Amino acid sequence: MEYIPIQCKSAIRKVKGGMPYQYDVNIYRGCEHGCLYCYALYSHDYLNDEKFYDHIYYKENIVDILEKEISSPKWKKEMINFGSVSDSYQPCEKELKLMREVLKLMIKYKNPINISTKSKLILRDIDLINELSQVTDVNITCSIICADEQIQKIIEPNASLSIERMKVLQILKQKTNASVGILMMPIIPYITDSYENLESIYELAYRIGLDYIVPGTMYLRGKTKPYFLNKIKDYNFLLYKKIKLLYPKGSCLKEYKKEIYDKLNHIQKKYPL
Ligand code: SF4
Repeated sequence: MEYIPIQCKSAIRKVKGGMPYQYDVNIYRGCEHGCLYCYALYSHDYLNDEKFYDHIYYKENIVDILEKEISSPKWKKEMINFGSVSDSYQPCEKELKLMREVLKLMIKYKNPINISTKSKLILRDIDLINELSQVTDVNITCSIICADEQIQKIIEPNASLSIERMKVLQILKQKTNASVGILMMPIIPYITDSYENLESIYELAYRIGLDYIVPGTMYLRGKTKPYFLNKIKDYNFLLYKKIKLLYPKGSCLKEYKKEIYDKLNHIQKKYPL
């Protein structure tokens, strides 16, 4: 693993439509979590670097640049999402503590935030998350798609275990004023799409009192598609052939999508989050 410092000229990026927020900030480029389905692989192209999972760029001056932007009279305290193409709590954050400094800044300016993570490291900052959630909107999501640890270790090799992420959400729900939920995406055909797997995540989320689950099927676009399919091919050739048939393009076949959403509708009636 290589950590590479860079200087950024701007911090806040306007997001294209279709997301519940309009602005995001990436403190890191690249991500150590190593998810096979990572949709963000393309983002290393802008750095002329193929090693998305192994070369982690960190923006040394992110706090100063972000402060310049959010202290501007033009900035209207819009919600900022942290980490659309990287995880702000990936392992290097333990040493670098950039996200911790960013949270202090968000408190200073009472700026609403959204954080998505697959790491229990977020609990290190529960004091700051709680403080911010008392003065503005804070939303925390963990992506959780798989209850089986063995499978999870293959598809998300360096992320915290699903059960640890559930615990993280439970603690944040109990000890802060943030809204807290699960992104159950991407649902991966034949690997995480069984009724039992999906139901077990809903059941636990319901039991521990989370606010929501947002499910979604998998997209395989750009370089993510060959990367994911080659990894599955190495793992199980028959499975690879079945998944490939479902993905003639970047999105799965609509018949399959309907099947998944029928399942989800049935489960959601049992666990009305
Ligand atoms: S945590 Fe997100 S950004 Fe990181 S590898 Fe996984 S999908 Fe990609």
